Amino acid sequence: MSFIKFLGTAGARFVVTKQLRASGGVWFSVGKTNLYIDPGPGALVRCLSSKPKLEPPTLDGILLTHKHLDHSGDVNVMIEAMTEGGFKKRGVLFAPGDALEEDPVVLKYVKDYVKKVEILKENSEYQIGEIGFSTARRHQHRVETYGINFKTSPRTISLIADTKFFPELPDLYRGEILIIHVVRLGPIKDEPIEHLSIEDVKTIVKKAKPSLTILTHFGMTMIKAKPWLIADDLEKELGMKVIAASDGMKIDLEEV
Ligand SMILES: [Zn+2]
Repeated sequence: MSFIKFLGTAGARFVVTKQLRASGGVWFSVGKTNLYIDPGPGALVRCLSSKPKLEPPTLDGILLTHKHLDHSGDVNVMIEAMTEGGFKKRGVLFAPGDALEEDPVVLKYVKDYVKKVEILKENSEYQIGEIGFSTARRHQHRVETYGINFKTSPRTISLIADTKFFPELPDLYRGEILIIHVVRLGPIKDEPIEHLSIEDVKTIVKKAKPSLTILTHFGMTMIKAKPWLIADDLEKELGMKVIAASDGMKIDLEEV
């Protein structure tokens, strides 16, 4: 079975540090391949308390879109869990160079547990088991950040990770399912906030025309406005299917 399970939908500091939403990231399974994306704080706990339980030793890899804590807080313990305490050297870690080099978020001794480390770079292709994916250009975010295009079957999936809006965004992410990290409700204008707003989401979805848009990674303004109501309004306005992710939500790729 192929699915995406949201083990967290929190974004930005307050929603994460107050745990108004969980911040565990996403478990992605295609056929027999399991990839963990952005294991933020609580990822391990959320895996093990998930029903049915998600078993970290069945992971084939862990991917960090970038090094910010809400995306990487549990990366070390997740690597340890994937490799059964480091006793079984296995799995691939995908991460931008700056997550591993200067001020690394992955501890050196833990990095040795994985079989392979693949550095994410701009416009590059990667493969792990049945999951093929590519990066686009580097996002406009304080640290090195990449969105991902998964060329998976039965559905292609694009993930727009944290970024400030830039006009090429809709063209870079053309998956049938589009997952967007949307932190802000109101327009960002000239504020020094390198995240997307609902205004930006409208611009992207109108142009990219995915068959399903999933909003996630919510900041405080989105949480207060109730993301599911925002998604309903967007769906009506755009005439396209839009849903808001919730903690524990599972999307079966054979059914959408
Ligand atoms: Zn970030």
